[in-house]
Amino acid sequence: MNASKLISSRKDKTLFTPGPLTTSQTVKEAMLQDLGSRDVAFIETVRHIRQTLLAIAGVSKGEGNYEVVLMQGSGTFGIESVIGSTVSPAGKLLVVINGAYGVRIAKIAKTLKIDTVTLEYPTDATPLPADVDRMLTEDQAITNVAVVHCETTTGIINPIEEIGQVVKRHQKSYFLDSMSAFGAVLFDFEKCGIDFLVSSANKCIEGVPGFSFAICRRDSLRATEGWARSVSLDLLSQWQGLEANGQFRFTPPTHAILAFAQALCELQAEGGVEGRAGRYRGNHEALVTGMRELGFTEYLRPELQGTIITAFHYPVHSAFQFDEFYGRLNDKGFVIYSGKVSDLDCFRIGNIGRLFECDIHSLLAAIRATLSEMHIALPSN
Ligand SMILES: *Cc1c(COP(=O)(O)O)cnc(C)c1O
Repeated sequence: MNASKLISSRKDKTLFTPGPLTTSQTVKEAMLQDLGSRDVAFIETVRHIRQTLLAIAGVSKGEGNYEVVLMQGSGTFGIESVIGSTVSPAGKLLVVINGAYGVRIAKIAKTLKIDTVTLEYPTDATPLPADVDRMLTEDQAITNVAVVHCETTTGIINPIEEIGQVVKRHQKSYFLDSMSAFGAVLFDFEKCGIDFLVSSANKCIEGVPGFSFAICRRDSLRATEGWARSVSLDLLSQWQGLEANGQFRFTPPTHAILAFAQALCELQAEGGVEGRAGRYRGNHEALVTGMRELGFTEYLRPELQGTIITAFHYPVHSAFQFDEFYGRLNDKGFVIYSGKVSDLDCFRIGNIGRLFECDIHSLLAAIRATLSEMHIALPSN
């Protein structure tokens, strides 16, 4: 069968996943252009993107001394770039873990043979800044601390400002995996004391996959000379290349960058981070209300829950099989996020992407129909 026909013969499904996600028509259309990597218009677009990301972070280049580095690859490549480039050869990394993405940071560091220690919590609890304080006091060899902002495993929001202040008091380097939060969660970048933050094109900015970006304190970035453990993921060299001639060192994802520039315009038109956070909050509230009516319960206590993605327990019913539930929703054009939260029986529904409350209501109607097809009646709570 012809693969392109297979894909284009249907209407796009609606993606309730944490990336790739449903994007606007205009973001997709922005990709209908072939640009050379040295094209003036392309270089100008990259420059504009780097500047706009600083504005979104609330730190401007002149005053705040921050820099943006774009890196080819998915979000994990960006994390691997920062972890592999910003821990000195004699350094030691502390990774704070309460979900799968924290585990991934530790795995990256260990694979790179970086001396690594972890501070681990259950997936339904936030890390305690006092524990980080104690670790940094007891183990003076630690030089870098890594934390996940929104743990997409559960949707929990971690106390990044309180932890950041502890890290700064100990004068360590602070790394934040803000992949699924940046662009839709309000926070004070400077107050958090962030040295390096990573997010990617296809999360809350609502672009398409293809690259990630690091927002870096310039002094912290400059201090990493000679530390990179990889050529392609060398953060400092990538920055130096962008500064020297505005170009990537290796083939840039030109189409994804054009889509991202359009996505940034649409973020601004929506009222920036605050506007987008408001839409996701509306989605989240509609989702939770509707799911409770259908008899589902959330995994996290409401006070820990962010608005990006929500984990729900599998219903306690002998006829419930997640694969069948997922497949039937998929056939109706709704893609939810499979995959369990650690060893707990949960599934996840994302609110991010070009989704509105009407999409959440359509999903809820499809879930109601699916439960009925599966002969599952749940006690409404
Ligand atoms: C999506 C995500 C990543 C990166 O995932 P990729 O599949 O490599 O893009 C990393 N951390 C968090 C918290 C995420 O949500």
